[in-house]
Amino acid sequence: MSERTELPVMKLPEHVEYIIGNLMEHGYEAYAVGGCVRDTLLGRTPGDWDITTSASPDEVKRIFRRTIDTGIEHGTVTVMLDKCGYEVTTYRIDGEYEDGRHPKSVEFTKNLVEDLKRRDFTINAMAYNHQTGLVDVFDGIGDLKRKRIRCVGEAKERFTEDALRMLRAVRFAAQLGFTIEESTLDAIRALAPNLSKISRERIQAELTKLLVSAHPQMVEKIFSLGLAKQVLPELAVYYEQSDAQDMLHRLVRTEADPILRYTVFLSIVEGTPQERREKTRGFLRELRFDNHTTDFVSRLSEHRDAALSLDKPRLRRQIVEIGEDILPYLLQLQQAESAEKLYRQMKADGDCLSVKELAVNGRDLIEAGVKQGKAVGEALNEMLYLVLNNPQLNTRENLLALVKEE
Ligand code: ATP
Ligand code: MG
Repeated sequence: MSERTELPVMKLPEHVEYIIGNLMEHGYEAYAVGGCVRDTLLGRTPGDWDITTSASPDEVKRIFRRTIDTGIEHGTVTVMLDKCGYEVTTYRIDGEYEDGRHPKSVEFTKNLVEDLKRRDFTINAMAYNHQTGLVDVFDGIGDLKRKRIRCVGEAKERFTEDALRMLRAVRFAAQLGFTIEESTLDAIRALAPNLSKISRERIQAELTKLLVSAHPQMVEKIFSLGLAKQVLPELAVYYEQSDAQDMLHRLVRTEADPILRYTVFLSIVEGTPQERREKTRGFLRELRFDNHTTDFVSRLSEHRDAALSLDKPRLRRQIVEIGEDILPYLLQLQQAESAEKLYRQMKADGDCLSVKELAVNGRDLIEAGVKQGKAVGEALNEMLYLVLNNPQLNTRENLLALVKEE
């Protein structure tokens, strides 16, 4: 049927062995497939294990006690073992792609090779079980050795079927430190405009994986290949005008955290601090980011150049103005070691850095005679600024004494 390569036995997790073994005992074929095979061959730890089988979804459901219909229309059933879920997908041929995103229909098949053909890249189109060994009909092993991303079949056809694959090519190159093979690159350049058909959520997921990868500087490719222009045209203009090399170098030096990496990536946005914050917020909304990430990254871009003071009272006031929640990120971005040391000292000393940490609260003030309403907030704020200057004043006694003086 296919080329079998002389390779040492691949170690499979117990659950995966069990699922494959069980399917085979029932007379079906079953293999670990895709990313888990690729990662194991590379000596990386797979994120998850996918299984492909000749059994139909109904047959899979009959064999395993606990299953969930996670994608039954595509032939995927999740088999639950202990608390772990494994996606078991029936060999499948994708029908015509009508819109550059989804196949119109899927058809099940009994032929593993047909299933491997529908997959995106040669390195993602290998299957393995102990009985057959490695099934590698498109020379995925060769491409792993040459460290390159190459489409299964004709690149232009494959990107026309599903435009997201173009971004996935760059994402895998960045994760693995691979290059993209020449005809695959040409096809991306030619078909980049099709990326506009893909949902922003799916684009975000790939872009995030790319940015938090081991080679985030490869994000350059989304600009040079014309992909960014389709999704974030304004950002592509900023990129052209910016010192891109500097941003790419900083990306590599930044810890692989999405908030930090996106802040550095979007640091090509220029303007006043407020303009930067709003533009950044716009880009993240466009990518359908959650509120937390949007809020943090846009505020970080606003305050990115804040010159943090090394004078404790002044630094305390700055922290209140910037927001203590984003401070740890800001310190990292600025590699502001001295300010970080001061901040750590202040935390160790228990210095008050917010109204919440004052030794009194609104209710205390009202009981002490402050009029309910705006006056309470104002009084608390005044106390905060006093305490920021001199943390020793943050006692109940001291603060209430202030009220009485008024
Ligand atoms: P990751 O480590 O990110 O999970 P992965 O290779 O497992 O990498 P998935 O997105 O989980 O990637 O997809 C699993 C497998 O399904 C891929 O290895 C590939 O064979 C196939 N696949 C996924 N998305 C596509 C696509 N858009 N077009 C063709 N095949 C795809
Ligand atoms: Mg996966």
